[in-house]
Amino acid sequence: MSRRKKSFSCGHKGFGQICHRCAQEQAEFNEHKRVKQEWEQTFTLDPIDLRTLPKNVVLKARNIIQSLQNEYNYRNFHGKRLRHDRLIVSIPVTRNYRLICRDLGSFLMPEQIVSHEDYNICKPGS
Ligand SMILES: [Zn+2]
Repeated sequence: MSRRKKSFSCGHKGFGQICHRCAQEQAEFNEHKRVKQEWEQTFTLDPIDLRTLPKNVVLKARNIIQSLQNEYNYRNFHGKRLRHDRLIVSIPVTRNYRLICRDLGSFLMPEQIVSHEDYNICKPGS
């Protein structure tokens, strides 16, 4: 076996059958892709669609949604009932996003996440 450096088709130089620099890049790319796919998979478990939201909003929303399953008191999450529909509860997720839930009597059912702009259309009471 010769240990002579050779040029690969990619332009890099090195030993062996494949370019290890490119193999490393490919491995990093695959890992990145795997992490991304895993992240996308997590959305299938959400009761509402969170795909279009920034990651920090997704994580906070999930936290609230999960907590609501054991904790009916929306006030613990700084939630408020909407003035024009008392069965709808709005819970702040971040400064810019609210989680809209429907009060089912003993359970708060998450319905959607609205951005601050959408939210101004349906301001809550107190
Ligand atoms: Zn290469």
